[in-house]
Amino acid sequence: MTPTNKDVNKALELLAGEFRAAGAQVTVNPLPEKETRRFTQRDGIHRMGRSTILITCPFCGVEVEAFVWSLAGSGKRCPGCGAKHTYFGRTVKG
Ligand SMILES: [Zn+2]
Repeated sequence: MTPTNKDVNKALELLAGEFRAAGAQVTVNPLPEKETRRFTQRDGIHRMGRSTILITCPFCGVEVEAFVWSLAGSGKRCPGCGAKHTYFGRTVKG
C-alpha cells in the first residue's frame, strides 16, 4: 500500500509532536491532500538549447512537452484535464 499525503501529514504531525515535547520549535508544512499519481516521462528534444521532457498525464493520458526548468518552478498544467505535473515526478489532480 502506498501512503497517501494524508498519512504522511499524520506521521509528520506525530513526529513534530515528539520534538515539541522535547522543547523544540517545529513547524510542519503539510503536503497537499489532493490525489497524486506518478507520471511517465520520456526524453523530449532540445529546443533553444534547453532540455524538454514529454510527460504522459496519469489521469487523462494526454501527452505534453515541458521544459525541465519550468517543471522545477511552477510545474506544468495538463492541457487535457488541468492536473499539474510537478518536478517530483508526480501529477497533482485539480
Ligand atoms: Zn490530464
